Amino acid sequence: MRLLVVGGAGYIGSHMVKMLANVGHEVIVLDNLTTGFRESVKYGRLIVGDLADMHLLENLFAEHQFDGVMHFAANSLVGESITNPAKYYRNNVANTLNLLDVMVRNDVKHFIFSSTAATFGEPEYTPIDEAHPQKPINPYGASKLMIERILQDYAQAYGLNSVCLRYFNACGADPEGELGENHDPETHLIPLILQAASGRRKSITVFGRDYATDDGTCIRDYIHINDLCSAHSLALDFLMAKNEKGALAFNLGNGQGFSVQQVIDVVEKVIAEDGFSLTVESGERRMGDPAVLVADAAKAKRMLGWKPVFDDLETIVRHAWRWEKA
Ligand code: UDP
Repeated sequence: MRLLVVGGAGYIGSHMVKMLANVGHEVIVLDNLTTGFRESVKYGRLIVGDLADMHLLENLFAEHQFDGVMHFAANSLVGESITNPAKYYRNNVANTLNLLDVMVRNDVKHFIFSSTAATFGEPEYTPIDEAHPQKPINPYGASKLMIERILQDYAQAYGLNSVCLRYFNACGADPEGELGENHDPETHLIPLILQAASGRRKSITVFGRDYATDDGTCIRDYIHINDLCSAHSLALDFLMAKNEKGALAFNLGNGQGFSVQQVIDVVEKVIAEDGFSLTVESGERRMGDPAVLVADAAKAKRMLGWKPVFDDLETIVRHAWRWEKA
């Protein structure tokens, strides 16, 4: 198949492109390189451009008949979305609409969308399944939920069939060591701990030790990047093979929570093998962090046949550490 991967130079997109190319798909990457990296596009052809550029999109779709589109290009910093919501609604919503409209005009009917656990807001129960109410508490989550809603209407009206995948905590790195996480600024726990371990940062600060959990630190559902990507491949197969109509959504996580302290413990064990150590500090809670966020991914397992294979934390940390060392 010929596939367009928007945002394929970013963390998740670049791993996805590798997986798709490795099973023989022709992949074209569209990325504006604001947060992605040219050198992360190791498979497929990179076109540097922005979804705001309708002219570029029209030409791209006129030139290539795509069988499907995967969309990873979005701004994803919760704090920034609160101080600069305009950026989030313009890029994550308006620019995505440009993409959907050009798909409709060119009769491209299969769309896989990066959504997020942030569409749920404050958890009312855990693990979080697809029936959980979606009440985002920041513009980032709201912008993703708007697209989820738009996709339902586009399926009805225009026959654009889609799958939204709501990620919990994406982490880890390419098991072959070729790709990994590279954010600036970095805000995510595992890369921050590893940067503290390698000496790129002074220390790691635990945000709050007074949560209602066993060790007092927050619990999250860490899902390996390759497991996330395999869910996207299966979702695309599902849309195509079953000729599935409509707009579907799946929550993606291991279904297993780990506390911040447990993550630190595993990192300390892995880095000690290489003679490294870590300075850990304790800080205040970070605003908007719920105590526990864990996915119920039973629907993805049942309907897509998805099964996470790198679901133990030590493997996730080992892959991410290899990338950090490199
Ligand atoms: N966290 C932390 N110190 C940091 C960064 C994150 O203690 O320097 C905690 C954060 O409070 C949360 C967990 O690690 O409980 C995961 O945070 P991350 O930002 O990686 O992902 P999120 O769950 O916010 O999407």
